[in-house]
Amino acid sequence: MSASPAQHDRRAWEQLAAAIRPEGRAFVAGRHQPALDGATFEDISPINGRPLCQVARCRTQDVDAAVAAARATFESGLWRATEPRERKRILRRFAELIRADVERLALLETLDVGKPIVDSVGVDVANCADCIEYYAEFADKLYDEVAPTGPSDLAVVRREPLGVIAAIVPWNYPLIISTWKLGAALVTGNSVVLKPAEQSPLSAIRLAELACEAGLPPGAFNVVPGLGEEAGQALARHADVDMVSFTGSTEVGRLMLRYAGESNLKRVALECGGKSPHVVFADADLRAAADAIAWGIYYNSGETCHAGSRVLVSSPVKDALIAEIARVAATITLGHPLEPATRMGALIDRGHMQRVLGYIAGGVADGAQVALGGRQALEETGGFYVEATVLDRVRPDMKVAREEIFGPVLSVMTFETEPEALRAANDSSFGLAAAVWTADMTVAHRVSRALRGGTVWVNAWDRSSMATPFGGFKLSGFGRDRSPHAIDKYCDLKTIWTAYR
Ligand code: NAD
Repeated sequence: MSASPAQHDRRAWEQLAAAIRPEGRAFVAGRHQPALDGATFEDISPINGRPLCQVARCRTQDVDAAVAAARATFESGLWRATEPRERKRILRRFAELIRADVERLALLETLDVGKPIVDSVGVDVANCADCIEYYAEFADKLYDEVAPTGPSDLAVVRREPLGVIAAIVPWNYPLIISTWKLGAALVTGNSVVLKPAEQSPLSAIRLAELACEAGLPPGAFNVVPGLGEEAGQALARHADVDMVSFTGSTEVGRLMLRYAGESNLKRVALECGGKSPHVVFADADLRAAADAIAWGIYYNSGETCHAGSRVLVSSPVKDALIAEIARVAATITLGHPLEPATRMGALIDRGHMQRVLGYIAGGVADGAQVALGGRQALEETGGFYVEATVLDRVRPDMKVAREEIFGPVLSVMTFETEPEALRAANDSSFGLAAAVWTADMTVAHRVSRALRGGTVWVNAWDRSSMATPFGGFKLSGFGRDRSPHAIDKYCDLKTIWTAYR
């Protein structure tokens, strides 16, 4: 196919998809491996509910082999002890190969998780390559420290890689979240064993092939697909894993802490769920706010950890804001993910779709009112689609105001005063992100400082870059992905004190 991916129509994408033979085997020590006992599980596409391929169902013995390969490479120094500029060169080459493979990677991502192909191309693959390139640059730019001492001593504070990092990731942004962990862990010389979510293993396996082609030594990056309670648990409990870097639900995040406590006290970093609020004051630019609010909840079908899923709006402007959100939602086409005009695709699987529809029904039973959407869509495709939905008249005690729905469902509540708005916004067990919308920058300053969240936007939503840390407060987890800060969590500090006489 000679046209650029941006020029492909649905037919072109379907032809490419038909030609793809997804690889479902694990990737260990630089080679594809079936599970040692030969077990597989079926990977289903949410686009149409049909099987995509069989995937290796890794269990303890496969995880043992992957961790042993990662440890052997770490101890050999083949990666850890290479010249920094060589590590940079290999990681930059890895980023180039990701860019060159955009069609295949984007298709694997879209077929596996049902997101629009234009997003897989323009956001997921693009950000994944940018992320590896961003961290590659640190290889020969990170300095260690010399501590202040007396004249006869030299105290060097060195940053050393931890060793073997287990990355356990969810299905909503498989490429992006995997590379946030990979880039920051690999650049200082760690080895990585990645456990993709069972719903979305394909792009991770492809990433490992590309890393190997770029020159990463075998064993430095391994992928063990499998079920959470099997491969995931075996990895998080493994005595030779130095750290688990987890992104997923708060419920499984709690298990990570337990597994670490019951095994080798490995370090744990957790990026968990959210119920992020927008606080919209009466003087806000409602068109701008509605635009950001709609995209902030309907992008990726609301399967975004920092989706702005709660709106707290000053009561006199509530109806106007909902009308504006409905106007924007009407422009966000729900459809087949391989159709380039589609901006909202499928939810990850039938169970999750039913869970989302259950939340909507539960909200209505509790007294909320459906102001937009609320139904399953495109049933004839066999896939899992839900309309862009707004629930009005939500009260703070309702489940739809408190629990993470992880779908295209916005819960709207009103407030009368600034203190009331702030109390309601912070009245959540989560603290991933928040936004304040107002024309008064004094109010914006005050409220943004008082909101409890890892990121607070002022008159914006979802503006970010690799240069800013991402992660949460409270049950949204701890530890940060992105930015130089993420590198620190994959390193230990060692002091080497030399006395000169
Ligand atoms: P999940 O917690 O069910 O699964 C995440 C990963 O953990 C998967 O790889 C899964 O196989 C594994 N896992 C499940 N049970 C396990 C166990 N017992 N032991 C070890 N591993 C296990 O989450 P999900 O449904 O894949 O993803 C959705 C959740 O992820 C949402 O709550 C969302 O908010 C969260 N998320 C958070 C962020 C963030 O950066 N804060 C980003 C994306 C998603």
